Amino acid sequence: MTLVRVAPPLAQDVDLSKTYDAVIVGSGAAGGMAAHVLTTRGLKVLMLEAGKKLPIEQELRSMQWPYDHPRRGDAPPGYHSLSFNEYTIRTPPYAKNSTFKHVMSYVGGWGGSDYVKNILVDEKDHPYSGTKYAWVRARALGGKTNIWGRLALRLSDYDFKGKTHDGYGDDWPIAYADLEPYYDKVDLYLGISGVKENLPHLPDSLFQRPNKLTFGEVKLRESLKKMGRVVTPYRAGVTTDGVKHNRYRSKCYGRGACDRRPGGCDIHAAFDSPTGLIYPAMDTGNLTIRTNSIAHEVLVDSNTGKARGIAFIDSATHQSYEAKAKVVIVAASTLESARLLLLSRSSQHPNGIGNSSGHVGHNFCEHVMGPGVTGLVKDLVGKPPTLDDGLPGGFYIPRFRNLKDRQPGFVRGYGFEGSGGFSIFPGNATGTPGFGAQFKKEVRDHAGAFIGMGAFGEVLARYENYVDLDPDSKDAWGVPVLRFHYQFGDNERKMCEDMVVAGREMFEAAGIEVVGTDEKILTEGWSIHELGTARMGSDPKTSVLNQFQQSHDVKNLFVVDGSSHVSASCQNPTWTIMALAWRSCEYLASEFKKGNV
Ligand SMILES: Cc1cc2nc3c(=O)[nH]c(=O)nc-3n(C[C@H](O)[C@H](O)[C@H](O)COP(=O)(O)OP(=O)(O)OC[C@H]3O[C@@H](n4cnc5c(N)ncnc54)[C@H](O)[C@@H]3O)c2cc1C
Ligand code: SF4
Repeated sequence: MTLVRVAPPLAQDVDLSKTYDAVIVGSGAAGGMAAHVLTTRGLKVLMLEAGKKLPIEQELRSMQWPYDHPRRGDAPPGYHSLSFNEYTIRTPPYAKNSTFKHVMSYVGGWGGSDYVKNILVDEKDHPYSGTKYAWVRARALGGKTNIWGRLALRLSDYDFKGKTHDGYGDDWPIAYADLEPYYDKVDLYLGISGVKENLPHLPDSLFQRPNKLTFGEVKLRESLKKMGRVVTPYRAGVTTDGVKHNRYRSKCYGRGACDRRPGGCDIHAAFDSPTGLIYPAMDTGNLTIRTNSIAHEVLVDSNTGKARGIAFIDSATHQSYEAKAKVVIVAASTLESARLLLLSRSSQHPNGIGNSSGHVGHNFCEHVMGPGVTGLVKDLVGKPPTLDDGLPGGFYIPRFRNLKDRQPGFVRGYGFEGSGGFSIFPGNATGTPGFGAQFKKEVRDHAGAFIGMGAFGEVLARYENYVDLDPDSKDAWGVPVLRFHYQFGDNERKMCEDMVVAGREMFEAAGIEVVGTDEKILTEGWSIHELGTARMGSDPKTSVLNQFQQSHDVKNLFVVDGSSHVSASCQNPTWTIMALAWRSCEYLASEFKKGNV
């Protein structure tokens, strides 16, 4: 077993009288990457993170078995996780008038709420309003990367040049060739496991050792080859061979904890921003971190209109402070970054900083999910158990719609995430009729024979899907909250109908008996892949940022998270967020040295 080095002490003296080269808001995938790139290029950086620094290994306890926990992983009484019905029947703010002391997003309800109760925000303190939306937020050093699912995919020119391909929306101001070297850098620095497939619509990464597919998954892979579709082992943002340059992470030794609860790897084989990016950045001596620091305004120099720093509130004391910097980097996650830009009104920027186009908060897009299929691999019924759950993931079926074909009902596409084989608890136990010895035999015989998959589809970027500030509602720190004006459209509904048909068709073609289909579309937000609220573009009238995620209006302001994405694609976004942030921060560092920002 590899020993993990202890994190550097975070109780640093933060000198707020000093002007830093750069201040970064947020410490997730985007903020962590900005810190890594800028500190290695010698910039003196202050990172402000709204959440706490948690003793994360004690929170995640990835080696704890259900029977070692007094409530089998459940949070103590007084905690409640929002359910699908609460999200769909009621309207936000969902925790309003709740009799529970603490309310978490639906992710807390996956089984294992005790492990995430301090990572997810308490919805009581963090309300939002408007249309229905399942908004999952993690306020802690590292943000959502502490618990993410790690499916790490690249985008292709089918995404970057989507308009050229099918006429819908807008092309990105970059092509795959611009980002490819930065994807490579992310792969090598952080580690990713997978198998090369040589697909133009899902470019390969520089992979470490892949997961092995289970029997049922191989059966599906072989069958789909005949349909020209691919089943590939889960491309996991996990180091399976180790990353020798990083002393805070161990390689994956397949302990099955990935399968047990919402993310979290306490040996940090799975990428998380603190051990992957932030601690190494601290080792350069150039990074200072202040946690518990809620940014609520980008401050502006009244003479130049340029950013001069960040106003923030200490989450524990509610005291206000200012941090000064030559460059401001917003990386608070797609929706929080839009909120911060909109909150930053001044005489120079009356609609919010960087918002002369009026596009901040608009073109909000993400992934639609819900439809899926469950099958039974009959050849496996009654076979001896195999160790299938010590894996960071199962399989992925890349997009196959609207590549060479044109679907009549919808544009763009979707991919499937799935897994088959034995898991820590036989999911079929609760649905199997009977009792006693016969019941147990029935459950055991079938336990490893199930295979399931669910689709993630591209939600089209539309100007009319947006967030703004609610004039009547504030969070626990007195900061105006976001109001959602966001709904799926006809394209998403038609695509979801197709997901069910295609899922069934693929299982049947592989000789897998379909035992269930999910046709229900989950609430907006469920994918936790929110994107697009400050999009890049070449035209300052219709976009917020240029191709380097630099504000068209304020040249020392950069927004380096998913808010910059022009379209959602159907691939999970985090690897792209980090590749883009790397590219932009390299540009920023070189412009900074030339005195151009
Ligand atoms: C359960 C789960 C599964 C997921 N699975 C996948 C997956 O398989 N593949 C994938 O690609 N993505 C996945 N994601 C999404 C992934 O986690 C995000 O894309 C990624 O973390 C985004 O990085 P970010 O830096 O933009 O935001 P975050 O990681 O959310 O970090 C933002 C940080 O900014 C801080 N912040 C917010 N507001 C302020 C403020 N005003 N002042 C100071 N700090 C602030 C927050 O506290 C947070 O720490 C998953 C997410 C979850 C929760
Ligand atoms: S399977 Fe690997 S990545 Fe997942 S929790 Fe275990 S060691 Fe970490």
